[in-house]
Formats: sequence, structure tokens, C-alpha cells
Amino acid sequence: MAGVYIHIPFCKSFCSYCDFYSITDSSQKDALVQAIIREVSLRSRYLEGEEVDTVYFGGGTPSLLSASQTENIIKAIKENFGLADDPEITVEVNPDDVYGGYFTSLKETGVNRVSLGVQSWDEKRLKYLGRRHTALQSEVALEQIFREGIKNVSADLIYGVPGMTTADLGADLKKTFSFPVTHLSAYHLTIEDGTRLGKMKKEGRLTETDEDTSTSMFTLLGNVCRAHGFIHYEISNFAQEGHISRHNSSYWKQVPYLGLGPSAHSFDRRSRQWNVSDVKKYISSVNNGEVPFVREELDRLTIFNEYVMTSLRTMWGIDLTHVEKFYDKELHDYLVNLSGKYIRYGLMKREKNTLVLTDQGKMISDNIIAELLTEL
Ligand code: SF4
Repeated sequence: MAGVYIHIPFCKSFCSYCDFYSITDSSQKDALVQAIIREVSLRSRYLEGEEVDTVYFGGGTPSLLSASQTENIIKAIKENFGLADDPEITVEVNPDDVYGGYFTSLKETGVNRVSLGVQSWDEKRLKYLGRRHTALQSEVALEQIFREGIKNVSADLIYGVPGMTTADLGADLKKTFSFPVTHLSAYHLTIEDGTRLGKMKKEGRLTETDEDTSTSMFTLLGNVCRAHGFIHYEISNFAQEGHISRHNSSYWKQVPYLGLGPSAHSFDRRSRQWNVSDVKKYISSVNNGEVPFVREELDRLTIFNEYVMTSLRTMWGIDLTHVEKFYDKELHDYLVNLSGKYIRYGLMKREKNTLVLTDQGKMISDNIIAELLTEL
């Protein structure tokens, strides 16, 4: 099984924290959709006969595509790769793109999962984050989604925004769980260079959330989600039983995936590829029969380090049997030895033949992961 990711690199305006590749000029939207469909056929051998199990439209803003544009891309994927019997097909939706009938048409395309970019229920915080939508628009979008009978619904929230308190996060979670969402992605804000918030940080106009507040927010997040019966299956992701994102899980489990569109990444277990981050160059190159990408062959240690980095963030943890079988005994023993001290400190636990982070360990996951990466 494999996944397909489609990057739609258009945004009506830029959010203050975002460093994804996107442009505000969407005049090439039709040409881009045609180019993506052409890329599907140019790369029809990439997944080496693996059937596609998950399709994910991300961005940028995929909800700027019409339902028929979305459907045509899904059709091309089906024709070139074949879709599994019960595929998970997700579209990220921005609440301000929703119009009457939007979800009715979206559902008819085969899309069966919606990820709504709520981010916050507080108007001031939405403005600070540079979001275009209001809290009311998120509410209306969620009502429409559920009225339409779409059952697999994720909401995105951002916490750790400067000035935000743990009680503010509590209010955001309360409002989110007043809807029957089945999945929640909650990310702590990271301030990246090159963004508006990054500039404010450089100029000393912003105070980042302190560590104690971040820890108390993360604890509250876990507790509230657990109280609603959600499984904490990845550091920033929570889901009801049966609603864990199959697409995101496949990234963390190193399942191959194909990325379509400008700046999209692909992975085939041996290499990574990055499509060019330039809409015009991408379209003209694909139209000339060539996908413009950079390729990096991955050596055994790079793949191992990526496995450690991604799997330790999940509830499935590091599978030591897998490490011994697919890498070697030396790397297996290296992990067993190094994990000893984390297990003694209560930051990690060994369950049968897997290593997983405890709740305490999750709070400093980046530090633990950094120490486990190896140049053996
Ligand atoms: S967060 Fe999403 S909507 Fe905002 S600029 Fe980035 S890609 Fe566009």
C-alpha cells in the first residue's frame, strides 16, 4: 500500500507563522491542475505496483480547487495506480472557502475525510496568526460538514501562541469538542525564520511562550483528549478509535508515498525527491514531459535515523524486531543500550519489543530523539 500527497500551492494571503511554499496569485490554477494530472501519468511507475490506499490534498489551500478539479485528480490517480477498496481521501479545508453546497460537491468526488483549519476559536488570536477566517466561519463549516454526513473529520488547532494561557487552550478544546470531530491535530506554534512572526521575534517585538506554560498546555491537551476517549497516537495528533489518520501514519511508518505538485516530496524507501518550489517552472517542465525534482539517495543510516525520529513520536514506538531485521544487530543493541537511561528516568518504556515515550518523555521528545540519532 502507498500514499499520494497533492500540494496545492495557492493561498489568498499568508498566515503570520507559515513557511510552506505557496503563492497568492492563483491565475494558473487550471494549468496547475492539468500539470498535476500529467505528473500522475509521468510518474505512474514510481510506486512500483503498490496500490494507493490514501490520498491527501494539502497545501497551500486545496479548498481553492473546485470539486471537479479535485475529482479529476482523484480519477487520474485511480487510473494510473489503482485505488484500494476503501481508500482514505482527505482534503484540507480553510473555513473561509466554504460556500453553500461546497461539501455536497466535495463528497461526490470520493473525498471521505475533511481536515478543517480551525486553529483557534478566539478572534484576536486568529488575527494574530494572520488567518483569514473568523470563529463563526469555522462553526458554520463544521455544521455543514456534519449536516452533509461526512463522518471522518479532523480539526486543526495551534497552541503556545504568544500571550495565550492554558485556560485559553482549554476554551479552544471545549469549543472543538462541542462538535462530533473524530480527530484533532494540535500543534505548538514554532516561530520560523522568514515568517512575519519570525521577523517580529528578531526585532524583539514578541515574547515566546515559556516552557512551564507549554508543558501545562501539553498536559491539558492530553488530559482533555483522553477524557473525550481520544487516543494520543502521535505527539500532536489525537483520534477516536478507528479514525487515526491512515495517511499521516504511513509517513511515520515509512510507507512509500508519491508527492505531486510544486514543492511536494516523495519517498520510495531508497530515496527522497523534492519537486521544484515554483509554480511556473513546475507547469512548463511537466508540460514538456519532465518532472522537475531533486533526488537524494538515502543511505542505511539516514533511513534508520528517520525511522527513529518519526516512530518515537508515535504510540507504536520503535519496533526493535524491525530494527534488527531491516537494519542490523549493532543498531538494535545501540538502541537497547542508549534507551536504558531514559527507561530509568521514566521517560521511556519498553513494551515487549518496542520502545515508546512515556507522557513525561513526550514533553522533551525532541531532545531524546536528537540523542538517539546516530552516525555509527
Ligand atoms: S497556514 Fe495554510 S492558509 Fe496559511 S499561509 Fe500557510 S498554507 Fe496558506
